[in-house]
This record gives sequence, C-alpha cells and structure tokens, in this order.
Amino acid sequence: MEMDKLVSLCKRRGFLFQSSEIYGGLNGFWDYGPMGVELKRNIKEAWWQDMVTGHDDLGTLPNAPSPYQMVGLDCTIILHPQVWKCSGHYDQFHDYMVDCKQTKKRYRHDQIEGRWVEAKDKKVFVTSASTGEEAEAEVEQKALKFFNLKKKYADQLNYDGGLICLTEIDDFSQVLGPDAKELGTLTEPREFNLMFKTFIGALGGEESAAFLRPETAQAIFVNFKNVCDSSRVRVPFGIAQIGKSFRNEITPRNFTFRSREFEQMEIEFFCHPDESQKWYQFWRERRFEWYIKMGLASDRLQLREHDPEELSHYSCGTADIEYAFPFLAEGDYGELEGIAHRGDFDLRSHTEGKLVREGDGFAVEKDEHGQPKYRGSGKDLTYRDMVTNEKFIPHVIEPSAGADRATLAFLCEAYTEEEVPDEKKGKSEVRTVLQLHPRIAPLKAAVFPLVNKDGMPEKAQEIYRTLKPHFNVFYDDKGAVGRRYRRQDEVGTPYCLTVDGQTLKDNTITIRDRDTLKQTRISVEEAVDAIREKINNA
Ligand code: ATP
Repeated sequence: MEMDKLVSLCKRRGFLFQSSEIYGGLNGFWDYGPMGVELKRNIKEAWWQDMVTGHDDLGTLPNAPSPYQMVGLDCTIILHPQVWKCSGHYDQFHDYMVDCKQTKKRYRHDQIEGRWVEAKDKKVFVTSASTGEEAEAEVEQKALKFFNLKKKYADQLNYDGGLICLTEIDDFSQVLGPDAKELGTLTEPREFNLMFKTFIGALGGEESAAFLRPETAQAIFVNFKNVCDSSRVRVPFGIAQIGKSFRNEITPRNFTFRSREFEQMEIEFFCHPDESQKWYQFWRERRFEWYIKMGLASDRLQLREHDPEELSHYSCGTADIEYAFPFLAEGDYGELEGIAHRGDFDLRSHTEGKLVREGDGFAVEKDEHGQPKYRGSGKDLTYRDMVTNEKFIPHVIEPSAGADRATLAFLCEAYTEEEVPDEKKGKSEVRTVLQLHPRIAPLKAAVFPLVNKDGMPEKAQEIYRTLKPHFNVFYDDKGAVGRRYRRQDEVGTPYCLTVDGQTLKDNTITIRDRDTLKQTRISVEEAVDAIREKINNA
C-alpha cells in the first residue's frame, strides 16, 4: 500500500487533518476529523472494555497465573515537578540533536544515516534523514551532486561500507549533512529534554516551572496508595489510564506515528515479586493477541524482546509489539506498544528519591554533598496483603500503548484497493475499502432508500431513527446507490441497509456486507439484533 493514498483518504474523508492547517499547520500535531474521532474513540473504548470494565475479576484468563483485578484512573496532565525528578525524566528523558549551521535544520542524532563515499580523490560521509533503500538512493543523488557528476557516472562513486548511523562518526568535518551543500556544517550532538515546560501561576519564575506529562504512567504510581486505600484492591491488580501525553520530539514524522501530542493507553500491573516473571509473560501474550483479535494481520505484527543494552534505566525486561508500517523501509517495524518489567523501581523512587543503578540493584542518587539528589515523597508505598499480612513493594509490569499509533496501524492494515467488475460500464473498476474490524469502524451501518420516491425515503428514515440509539448510523439518499456504497466502503462502514420496492410490501431490507459484498434480506424488526450479532461475531 502506498502511504500517500492513505494520507489523502484520511484528509478527504475526515479522518485526520494537520493541526492549525489554515495557518500553515503545526509540525507534529494532528487533529482527528469526524470519522477519525469515532475510529480513535472506538479503539480506546475497545481497549478499556477488554482490559478494564469487561475484565472478569473473579475468573482466571488462559495463561494467567491467577485471577486479578482491574481498575481505572484519570489523572492530570501537569503533575508536581518532583514526580519527574524522582522518575528520572528530568535528568534522563532526552534525545541528542544535531543542528545544521547552513540550513538551520535540526535532526535527531540517531536518526541520520549515511555512507562513506569516495570520488575524485576525496572521501566524505554523505547522510540522509531517510532510512533503508530510500536513504541509499538519496545518498547516491547527493553524492553525485556534491562531486559534480552526472547520473550516468554513478559508477565513479566508490562506497566504503553500507549505511551506518551518524552516531558511529566521531569527527563531523567530513560529514555532508542531510540537507547541506557543504561539508562540516553539523554541530556536535547536544542533549535535548523532550518534556514541554510551562509555568504555574502568574509569577513565571523557575520555582513555578512545571512539565506536561511525557507519559501517563507516573500519575498511576503517585496514586498507588490512594487506589489501594479507596478500592480494596488486592495484589495482583492493574490500574489503567488513557490520556494525552506530550513529547517535544526533535523530528516528528511519518504522519501521526511520531507526534508531539499524542494519547497513551497504559496499565501498571502490580504483582508479588516472586510472580512477576509469569505476569510479564502473560501481559506480553495478552496484549499481542489483542491486536490480532482487533484485526492486525499477524505477519505484519511482531513481538520483539529488547536486547539487554536497549533496556531503559528502570527495566529488567521489555518487549515491544511492533507493526510493519508501510512508510518504513522493507523489513523495518515500528513500535505500537512496549511491555516493560519495571520491578519495584517506580514505587521505590517515589518513596526514597531518584534511583540509579548500583551493582545488581538500584540506590538513591546522591549529590556532591552525599545528600539525595532528588528527595522522594517519604510516603510509605509498601503494600500489606490484607489476608496474609505480608508486607512488600509490588513489582510492576507495564503494557504501554499509543492510541494514535494503534489507530494508524489499523488504518494502514484496513486500506485495500480491489478490482471489481462494473456491470453497467462492462469493465472493472477499483474499489477502495477500509476493512476495519466492525467494532472500531466509525460508522456501524448506513441506511439508503434505493430511490427517492414511492415512500422509500420515509421508510429509510424511520429505520435510521430506530438504529441510531444503538449504533452510529449514517443516512444517505444522495446520488446513485452504487456510489453511496462506495462512499461507505471508503470509511469502512461494515453494513449498508437498503430500502427498496419489496420493503414496502413485506417490511424486509437488504443488508450488504462491506467485505464479501453479499446482500441478504432481513426483516426491519430484526435489524438492530442482526447488526449487533454481526459486530459481536466479527
Ligand atoms: P519511540 O522509541 O518510538 O520513541 P518510546 O519507546 O519512547 O517510543 P514509550 O515511552 O514506550 O515509547 O511509550 C509508549 C507508547 O506510546 C509507544 O509504544 C507509542 O505507541 C506511544 N508513543 C510514544 N511516543 C510517541 C509519539 N511521539 N507519538 C505517538 N505515539 C507515541
């Protein structure tokens, strides 16, 4: 699938718009249109329903070590600044950036790839901000230009090795920046904290500085005691939250994949330390299966365990659920969700202060006077089991998903073009269809009168009004019925109901399936149940 076709459909049919577009847009910010808002809401609701409200606290799920409880939270975007100091985000949540002195462009150090190229007795490192094959093609084009060679002399370029990341280059003097015309215009890499800073109240001094949360997780840890005291949950249990997070990404790109404002769907699952490995395995499988159930094909989806050197400072095990997005180079995958085994790092750091690795474990980081660098809350966040009376700091498994990346993956997976015969024109035409899982489709059904006469519109409107309290349904009487079907296919509406001549005689309507294109007749009275059953069985 070509990505630009999906991007254009998203704009044309109201899924996604560039934020503040009439003012030229704002890089890294996206708005969801009338169709997009429904799709994303449905994804978030399906997640909440499957993980939280629909979860059976009393039963044991397949492969779960035991029954467990689930509750939710909805916390603020701005938290006490100390939260980010103790969590490590204040000191460690940064990327490295390099600036181009010539073009004034800024890049993420680890996102620039390049190759050593030699021609005309000179060897330079030519870079590109793309990846894979695209990067190779770009490097060749830029090298030809740099060495002033015509395309037919491309064989005069001698490459020393394949593409490597700029992070492997120490001296930038022979580096040609991704958009530069001269050598050595890139600055040394500098740290850049990804948290958006703001000020609370009118004074605006450093003492009132605060941050927009870069993840929803920390607010859950900070509320751990409140939840335990107020809801009588017993370990093992999980706290879920869906909400906005903000990261001042240096190079937002790939449509909504890397945005500066996005939504996360996170669970912090608290369990006994002895049981944590089993729960880690359980959550990896459970979350992976969820994406498959919701319609992502397993051959584009993978569960990848992090190498030890890839692990974040807090984690003793992380697996990513990744999807082969069409905008990535062949064979590359993009992260949809990370499932991390965080041990007791977070609860301890919010009690004791910022922790750093020491030997095999963690210890409070000290300043030059031997005092804790950032003090924790001092509150006891240990857990006492009300039945066994055992006291311990629970270990945490964190399945952390992005609602926007999930939405994008479902859109990419659903976009289909197929040749269908057009009997009237006697040739085939291309049908564009979003084969979204009916549960997440923005509209569940559309109702059409076959023609705008003989009482058909009145009957169709009556059916529309009967369905509307149950599902998001669309009424359309504009244009040829074939075109109306195509319009619904493009936004992924799974069922189209058409009122025709027979409806007026026997109170039946046709119901057309988006994917099989099969039409069957059902009675008007059973329409609500029939649609519900189809959605539930999909
Ligand atoms: P990446 O390596 O792609 O920057 P990450 O490992 O920093 O992602 P996490 O901190 O694990 O991401 O965040 C959990 C989830 O939040 C990610 O799996 C992703 O779905 C989502 N997410 C993170 N950053 C962004 C972003 N800039 N735009 C959209 N979604 C994001």
